[in-house]
Amino acid sequence: MAEREQQHVRVAVIGSGFGGLGAAVRLRRQGITDFVVLERADSVGGTWRDNSYPGCACDVPSHLYSFSFAPNPEWPRNFSGQEHIRAYLERVTDTFGLRPHIRFNAEVRGLRWSNSALHWEIETASGALTADVVVSATGPLSDPKLPDVPGLGTFPGKVFHSARWDHDYDLRGKRVAMIGTGASAIQIVPAIQPEVSRLTLFQRTPPWVLPRADRKISAAEKWLHTKVPATRAARRGLLWGIRELQVSAFTKRPNELGLIEFLAKNHMRKAIKDPGMRAALTPDYRIGCKRILLSNTYYPALARPNVDLVPAGLTEVRGATLVAADGSETEADAIVFGTGFHVTDMPIAQRVTGANGTTLAEEWKDGMAALRGASAAGFPNFLTLIGPNTGLGNSSMILMIEAQLNYMVDFLRQLDVLGGKIALTARQSAVDEWTRKIQRRMERTVWNTGGCDSWYLDANGRNTTAWPGTTAEFKKVTRQVDLAEYEVLRPPGAAVGTSGSARAEVAV
Ligand code: NAP
Repeated sequence: MAEREQQHVRVAVIGSGFGGLGAAVRLRRQGITDFVVLERADSVGGTWRDNSYPGCACDVPSHLYSFSFAPNPEWPRNFSGQEHIRAYLERVTDTFGLRPHIRFNAEVRGLRWSNSALHWEIETASGALTADVVVSATGPLSDPKLPDVPGLGTFPGKVFHSARWDHDYDLRGKRVAMIGTGASAIQIVPAIQPEVSRLTLFQRTPPWVLPRADRKISAAEKWLHTKVPATRAARRGLLWGIRELQVSAFTKRPNELGLIEFLAKNHMRKAIKDPGMRAALTPDYRIGCKRILLSNTYYPALARPNVDLVPAGLTEVRGATLVAADGSETEADAIVFGTGFHVTDMPIAQRVTGANGTTLAEEWKDGMAALRGASAAGFPNFLTLIGPNTGLGNSSMILMIEAQLNYMVDFLRQLDVLGGKIALTARQSAVDEWTRKIQRRMERTVWNTGGCDSWYLDANGRNTTAWPGTTAEFKKVTRQVDLAEYEVLRPPGAAVGTSGSARAEVAV
């Protein structure tokens, strides 16, 4: 154990969700075996391990929402459920021999950059280690967010968050209050509605909901995808291409989204006959401003007699009574919060102390910013996966993760080529220029102009989460590290390194 605590690795990856496992595969494929994956829980899967709520599924088709290097011809449905996605990640872990690299129950408590040793000092729940490079793959959907509701402590019943579902608690026959109407809540509502005695849904802002083209993938399709891999690739390509074509409407021409609003309203009208309820469920902002939700069962569930819609947020709890912003009161036995995650205030940022002695959270107090979504100024040899402005509204995050992994691999290659004990740190000017360009493009997007508040926006109203382009463009801009955007650090006393104005050439 003592020996383990002194361990030094070339790369430490934090998290074993899609990002962390993808990083581990790419490292191994580069021939790098001197790495660890630090995982706070006792199994892999990240958000797909933690979110096990009833009805949990992905609203991106599985043939696209999976690694390009680990295709799965056996996906059971267009939109697979959480248990299938989690099982897929377990299989990826075994297939690529990742388990020996993973340290479970090793929550990262602190990371500190050493200017003298040019490495990261890492404190984890299972001991300390050092690493030349840290790849943070903690993801934006890892730490649940609970609203600060006065009196919540006085509630005598059961309270839990959608991402921490208590499967030991039996909801049958209970009066349940569901808080929130995001992607999680709209999957939970139809799943629990038949079981509970009364379901009260607190809706602060109505979401736009479109039909979900879900179906079982037939045995013939699976057979074909196994025997003729080109058919699988074609399916993925088609799913990808359709989504790429949608991007400009979100990022440049939000007015084109009017037709989609018509389809969404029609979808609602089919299930909701009561005009008052329909009015309460109709959004007053442009579709796409918040993430578009997909469900065929949400509106029909709301129309059931044991469901009440409170068209207002939860503002106070007085014992077993829940008070909404419109003054209405509801009695409940259990409260389920579907209130999302700490997205723009990533908790890991408080634990990372960079070259200037400040934390990433302090550096990001006015908004997250990182060069090409990966490198924050002042944090040498530290790469973030799904970092600032890498999120998508309409396609698969796995595509963005894989692009960032290309960048990670090239980053490590550049360190090798430059040679010796060195580090790369993003120039503040490069980070600023990158951020300025992104924010300029953001001005036209539906996320900024659509008239809504969303988790894409931070406390200052700046969109620091979404990528304002296609996945193909992101892949292009993250293919290689541009050394002109970095400063090369060498140990004190070593020959002064020049910033690379030219790219180091390397044979692959
Ligand atoms: P979310 O999208 O952040 O939604 C949080 C919800 O809580 C919003 O409706 C919000 O209302 C509401 N809320 C917050 N405080 C409230 C209060 N005091 N009273 C009433 N409502 C309150 O969270 P999420 O649904 O967990 O989804 C997070 C992200 O996870 C998604 O956008 C998506 O990227 C991902 N996700 C994906 C899938 C999938 O199928 N792939 C499924 C689930 C989640 P406002 O709208 O007014 O803020």
